[in-house]
Amino acid sequence: MIEKNFQDIQKRIAGRAQLIAVSKNQSSEKIEEALKTGHRLFGENRVQEAKSHWQELRKTYPDLKLHLIGPLQTNKARDAVALFDVIETIDRENLVDEIAKESKKQNRHPDCFIQVNTGDEAQKAGVSLENFAGLLAYALEKGLKIKGLMCIPPVAADPAPHFALLKNLAAKNNLPELSMGMSGDFEIAIEEGATFVRVGTALFGER
Ligand SMILES: *Cc1c(COP(=O)(O)O)cnc(C)c1O
Repeated sequence: MIEKNFQDIQKRIAGRAQLIAVSKNQSSEKIEEALKTGHRLFGENRVQEAKSHWQELRKTYPDLKLHLIGPLQTNKARDAVALFDVIETIDRENLVDEIAKESKKQNRHPDCFIQVNTGDEAQKAGVSLENFAGLLAYALEKGLKIKGLMCIPPVAADPAPHFALLKNLAAKNNLPELSMGMSGDFEIAIEEGATFVRVGTALFGER
């Protein structure tokens, strides 16, 4: 079933964006099934869980690519830098500091995206639009490899304007990558310019 889901979703993406298979809260059996299809790009939203899912499998699958798509606490920066190829959730200066410090220590320099709180939601992670320019400048100055932007539109909102806003922001700042779109709205995100879509439920089933 998972193989068929991957085929269906890839067909709908039609080569227009890269598929991040979100494996959070999934069993190791389902993850193995996904790997059997040849898929190698996965997303996790918690560092501890990502370690338990992927630390060993990394040795078996050296071509694996892992994206962190959930909020990152500064005390997990060390593990995040060690495990992930892309950290999508940069949203504040003290996190930039920790990642810069750990990157240097470990001589590992993951690509980073800035998460933008496009809906200005109090409970949601991501930098506000107001503080975006300052954070980007700060992260670049600290040597982070900022390659793109990520957003999660408000649940009840039409996502298209949020995706369009993120695309404009990326274009203005010469950032090539855009991580946006989930199971329910990835096709809209692709139309708005997503280069990565993050799909969980539509691939693995309900969590
Ligand atoms: C869980 C999660 C997804 C995947 O959501 P689905 O609706 O299951 O596709 C995408 N992005 C983030 C940040 C997530 O936490």
